[in-house]
Amino acid sequence: MKPITESEALFKSARQLMPGGVSSPVRAFKAVGGTPRFICRAAGAWLEDVDGNRYVDYVLSYGPLILGHAHPAIVNALTGTIRRGTAYGTPTRREITLVRLITTLLPGMDMVRLVNSGTEAVMSALRLARAWTGRDRIIKCTGNYHGHADSLLVQAGSGVATLGLPDSPGVPESTVKNTLVVPYNDLAAAEAAFGAHRKRIAAMIVEPVAGNMGVVLPQKGYLQGLRDITRAHDALLIFDEVMTGFRVHPSGAQGLYQVTPDLTTLGKVIGGGLPIGAYGGRRDIMALVAPSGPMYQAGTLSGNPLAVEAGIVTLEKLQEPGIWSRIARQTARLARGWKSRAEAYRIPLEVAVAGTMFGCFYTDQPVIDWNTAKRADTTRYAGVFHALLERGVHLAPSQYEACFVSSAHDDDVVSHTLDAVDAALADEAG
Ligand SMILES: *Cc1c(COP(=O)(O)O)cnc(C)c1O
Repeated sequence: MKPITESEALFKSARQLMPGGVSSPVRAFKAVGGTPRFICRAAGAWLEDVDGNRYVDYVLSYGPLILGHAHPAIVNALTGTIRRGTAYGTPTRREITLVRLITTLLPGMDMVRLVNSGTEAVMSALRLARAWTGRDRIIKCTGNYHGHADSLLVQAGSGVATLGLPDSPGVPESTVKNTLVVPYNDLAAAEAAFGAHRKRIAAMIVEPVAGNMGVVLPQKGYLQGLRDITRAHDALLIFDEVMTGFRVHPSGAQGLYQVTPDLTTLGKVIGGGLPIGAYGGRRDIMALVAPSGPMYQAGTLSGNPLAVEAGIVTLEKLQEPGIWSRIARQTARLARGWKSRAEAYRIPLEVAVAGTMFGCFYTDQPVIDWNTAKRADTTRYAGVFHALLERGVHLAPSQYEACFVSSAHDDDVVSHTLDAVDAALADEAG
């Protein structure tokens, strides 16, 4: 590994001009210490930094790049598209293609509105749920992340149905007073919250596989239980599949677990690395969205031709026989290899795999929710993180982010990774 002098110099400049030197907080390496690598190019599974070092990438822009970096099919499609203009502010044929793919692949999607980010998709879906039900309150799970919209920046308040307190200054209490928080994987807590706020809850929103507190799988019956409770209380069930959509299964978590939500939010993979988001669901509910109905929601660049094109190529490639399952197989191989090497060095490790994403917790206790996730050893995570970075493997700089795999992560890349993992865990075991 070459010295990272150029990254260090750039980080210093960036911190003068941008809060923390970054455009999004996790990138600043706060949880693991050290200097983020400034990346100047990427191809397939590999990142290259400004000092000329190469890294196998398990961040993949936090999920979107399921075909790897600069996939030739995406580059070609984008090059063709950009020559015809970058935005028209009119409807286009290709939006229909993308939305038809989404509605064909995801059981719960009858109609879709395209937006520009996952955050925007979630904000809009909540507005829609409130418009549909005429109710104000929302239930979310501790440790689930739904973007940075005010009303969802709440995770504090363990215990059942405590009215939320904001997680960030600048979020008014009046906004989050309608947000109730319950533990993930805890049906009884959700039931109690619905019981305590009868006829006041518009929706429960959940990451069907949690991926923003590390990867935490839903326990058997949890999602179906939420489906039953929401139905019994005439509230909507919203699956936030911004991360899980096309990552945990080709038909999303809703296809994998065969539980159909009323509304679904998407982002990440459906833009193939360009900014996009989407929300959709039942036709009768979506009919409320302007201009077909009164619930207002709009966007200057929504349905952007470049983002739509990258999304179409990505989803079409994933339909080719064997592609998605090959990525899932490499993911499983990585997870198995990681676990067996940890066992060999007697390092306690819990690994969760969900299709093409996985997560590692350095703990000997099962992880089922935020309380158990936060018992994991983050110091050890940081140690392994840096030992891997030194060996050319780039994980997310936080225990509480998922690892993502792409179609470019072939046998050689995975073998290289597992060799690095072996050496890193040997260091860590001392
Ligand atoms: C990433 C993510 C979001 C936010 O999407 P952005 O495009 O970053 O605004 C929302 N929900 C989930 C589950 C996510 O993983």
